[in-house]
Amino acid sequence: TIGMLAIDSRGNLSGACTTSGLAFKMHGRVGDSPIIGAGLFVDNEIGAAVATGLGEAVMKTCGAFLVVELMRQGRTPQEACLEAARRITGKQNYKDFQVGYLAINKKGEHGAYSIQPDFNYTLYQNERNRVIESASFVK
Ligand code: ASP
Repeated sequence: TIGMLAIDSRGNLSGACTTSGLAFKMHGRVGDSPIIGAGLFVDNEIGAAVATGLGEAVMKTCGAFLVVELMRQGRTPQEACLEAARRITGKQNYKDFQVGYLAINKKGEHGAYSIQPDFNYTLYQNERNRVIESASFVK
């Protein structure tokens, strides 16, 4: 999945994502990316979140919606992504798949968390790109 979150100079949030789905997917499978609240969720009063990885795990936990709701309750973007990832890893063996969440809040703070390592995102700010490595459960 390619997920993008943006905040403009007035603090307006937006988000988008696109995916090719999973390799060898079942014909007709719909992943998390086209489902608002699963792979993508934006609430212009609170924050925005996107997911990548195994869509079934994201859908079962309403992942992106959960991340935004956790930010509504006061979590930072990274704390919210961590908690949403925990909802997945707490329920099943997670050694064989990846899920990564990326989030931004109304203040422009951003963060990410992934189940497996090597989940990076690029921050474009002040006309510069910066690669940021997210935290993850497995080192
Ligand atoms: N989240 C996508 C899906 O399950 C896969 C991806 O990360 O591109 O369809």
